[in-house]
Amino acid sequence: MSNINQQSILELVYYPQSENKLRQQSQEIERFDASVNKLSSAMLETMEEHQGIGLAAPQVGVLNRLFVMKIPEFEHLPKVFVNPKIIEKTDELMEFEEGCLSIPEYRAKISRPKFVKIDAFDAKGKPFEVDLEGVPAICAQHEIDHLNGILFIDYLSRLKRMRLKKKMLKEL
Ligand code: ZN
Repeated sequence: MSNINQQSILELVYYPQSENKLRQQSQEIERFDASVNKLSSAMLETMEEHQGIGLAAPQVGVLNRLFVMKIPEFEHLPKVFVNPKIIEKTDELMEFEEGCLSIPEYRAKISRPKFVKIDAFDAKGKPFEVDLEGVPAICAQHEIDHLNGILFIDYLSRLKRMRLKKKMLKEL
């Protein structure tokens, strides 16, 4: 059993070593075959292995518009989002200390809209719409950013970001 689990743990793409991979624009998934289901299950396992609450396909080297999310206390929400689109968001912002599995051991407070409505497909290609509020809304926006090559550190000041990158490069 544990053997099977280990086989589906995917390798993560890290910043800053593989920044170019994290900066790509991901493509929509057009065919909902078994590979979509397989990828999302493996991503959920990989995310849990690393104790994350969200993971986007580019973070495992796949440039497709798919992310997974599983947050304690919000497990009733969908866990797989394919071709997600934010169709509504409110002006009200929420500040949250974000982290990213691709940028280990770094956290920073970022402000984003507190409510979003998302339109997406599940792993089998069934469309759904979901209203997210608070941490799930923040997490989904962070993951959708990944699909557009945007990292949460892009919301920091340029100076802060440069300092961080320099420090991380030094520690490699
Ligand atoms: Zn991230």
